[in-house]
Amino acid sequence: METQLRALQQEALDALEQTTDSASLELFRVSYLGRKGGRLTAILRQLGSAAPEDRPRLGQLANEIKADIERLFDERLQLFGSGTDSSRPQPVDLSLPGRYLPFGSLHPITQVMGEICAIFEGLGFAVAEGPDVESDYYNFEALNIPQHHPARDMHDTFYVTDSILLRTHTSPMQARIMEKQDPPLRYISPGKVYRCDSDITHTPMFHQVEGFLVDRDVSFADLKGVLTSFSQRMFQRDLALRFRPSFFPFTEPSAEVDIACVICNGKGCRVCKQTGWLEILGSGLIDPEVLTQVGYDPDIYSGFAFGMGVERIAMLKYGIDDIRLYYENDLRFLSQF
Ligand SMILES: [Zn+2]
Repeated sequence: METQLRALQQEALDALEQTTDSASLELFRVSYLGRKGGRLTAILRQLGSAAPEDRPRLGQLANEIKADIERLFDERLQLFGSGTDSSRPQPVDLSLPGRYLPFGSLHPITQVMGEICAIFEGLGFAVAEGPDVESDYYNFEALNIPQHHPARDMHDTFYVTDSILLRTHTSPMQARIMEKQDPPLRYISPGKVYRCDSDITHTPMFHQVEGFLVDRDVSFADLKGVLTSFSQRMFQRDLALRFRPSFFPFTEPSAEVDIACVICNGKGCRVCKQTGWLEILGSGLIDPEVLTQVGYDPDIYSGFAFGMGVERIAMLKYGIDDIRLYYENDLRFLSQF
């Protein structure tokens, strides 16, 4: 047993010399001094089976060897640091590169809304923003949608009180502006709107840009000219445009506007349901009733109005087929734009 002890002492001291950092030192501690499976610990446990007359001598030798190894172990520990000792100042490497913060980017809806506004500003329209929480009067009454009008059903409105609601479109700005100013007027109104609706093409909150123009002798041809110019700049190519008769309470006549499918160029595909056309906005000449409501003489003034969903335009521009992707906050999706 004595030779075993001496051999282990030599081996352990050699192994200690070989340690180079706190991690290898810890490995050493486990394999020689560890309570479970440590080699020195194992020999000490065998002492009980030695001859009684040898036990005191062997015990003393074993303790000396253990102390010797522990002393050298402590020296090495001081040298490397225990790895958890936070009182020792850590060296600072001034040559290391700095930590970069990732750049953010604008949300695709914000980008497309900015583009839409920039195009209309280029055509001489001013931008006006209004409140998200709107009165029933500006959201409906002033736009020729009185109480109990069936068109109110189409809007799936969130009501705050009987007379206060979350605006269902950005058109209230039309009445607010016309009340305060006299023609000629050219405005667009971008912003959030709210409807109680959610599926693959609808979210309870979405974005609209609504625009209108009031002047003398405004005709459907003016409307078509402005919208053609808009769609060509938005989709950056010469796209065919068509008007389909429709109904909105605040315009007369009213029309939905389609552009030639931007995916298949009008040949027919899944996105345009093989029709070759994509609906992008609603429009029409402002109903004389709306003009009368704000005190304009419909025999002198006329105008047009249009409104589009920003998500819809962005989906067509980027080829996205699920509107909910915009609002799931997945940075892998959002940072592509
Ligand atoms: Zn198509």
